[in-house]
Amino acid sequence: MVSKKLALISFAALALSATAAFAQKGPVVGVSWSNFQEERWKTDEAAIKAAVEKAGGTYVSADAQSSPAKQLTDIESLIARGAKALIVLAQDSDAVRPAVEKAVAEGIAVVGYDRLIEIPQAFYLTFDNVEVGRLQAREVLKLKPEGNYAFIKGSGSDPNANFLFQGSMEVLKAAMDSGKIKNVGEAYTDGWLPANAQRNMEQFLTKNNNKIDAVIAANDGTAGGAIAALGAQGLAGSVPVSGQDADKAALNRVALGTQTVTVFKDARELGRNAAEIALQLAGGKKLTEIQGAKSWNLGPKKQNMTALFLTPVAITKDNLDVVIKAGWASKDVVCQGV
Ligand code: BGC
Repeated sequence: MVSKKLALISFAALALSATAAFAQKGPVVGVSWSNFQEERWKTDEAAIKAAVEKAGGTYVSADAQSSPAKQLTDIESLIARGAKALIVLAQDSDAVRPAVEKAVAEGIAVVGYDRLIEIPQAFYLTFDNVEVGRLQAREVLKLKPEGNYAFIKGSGSDPNANFLFQGSMEVLKAAMDSGKIKNVGEAYTDGWLPANAQRNMEQFLTKNNNKIDAVIAANDGTAGGAIAALGAQGLAGSVPVSGQDADKAALNRVALGTQTVTVFKDARELGRNAAEIALQLAGGKKLTEIQGAKSWNLGPKKQNMTALFLTPVAITKDNLDVVIKAGWASKDVVCQGV
């Protein structure tokens, strides 16, 4: 009887340790999120988590809730929780450097996710942000080849803000040089907050006696803020506005005609790629051995980075079916009220 009990206990212990071994089969991948302010980030997260788990790894994460200081301690605690690879969406790409440098020094693989962290030992995975800026300006320019343009830029602590602006300016340069287009207002949007975008837009409208003909807004959140300010002056729908992310509300605005363009960046793809790259790096692959990686040195610090860029797609009223067919948003949601 006693020995039967013992046998049972040791069997249970064996089963337990087998489960524990199974649970730890793959490496721990730690993801440090800046926040979940925009709709897209939950999609990115689901894709990363699914790909990590599919490969037998363990997903752990932390949300810095928009605090650069918290992001530093988040990264340390992800390392303490056993992360062998880190995926970092930087809230502030300069402020996050010490934590990433420390991780890299400890031999932990780091993927700078969506936003540049300009440390050569970190992989840089993103959509082509300069191209996003070009797509935004191109669609707005089609509707307004001349007039007063306002620029509602992204957060100043996010390098993407300047990449986007650079791409937009490239497209608008000729018309600006010839005087057809005038820059009548340009401001960063602190924290990418729609309320700040709205306030900046209100100021531009006041300063220009409402004579604003087009708005290059950096993403769908800031576009929403700008459109609210335009709406208060009865101008929503008559002034072209750009955005990006293919947020559901923005897709609906495109369908309704208050927003001209959003840019579809399939976060499911970015997330899957990040997980796969992180796991390969944790497994000993070198940055340059990642499939499709190229060297790139166009960041503000001109560092030699290893990067992979995915391709963004402009979405206007004419091709809303792209996001519907991709299973990104349903027709009901996109076309609500149309
Ligand atoms: C991302 C955008 C996003 C914005 C605010 C940027 O770095 O590329 O997709 O809308 O941050 O989160």
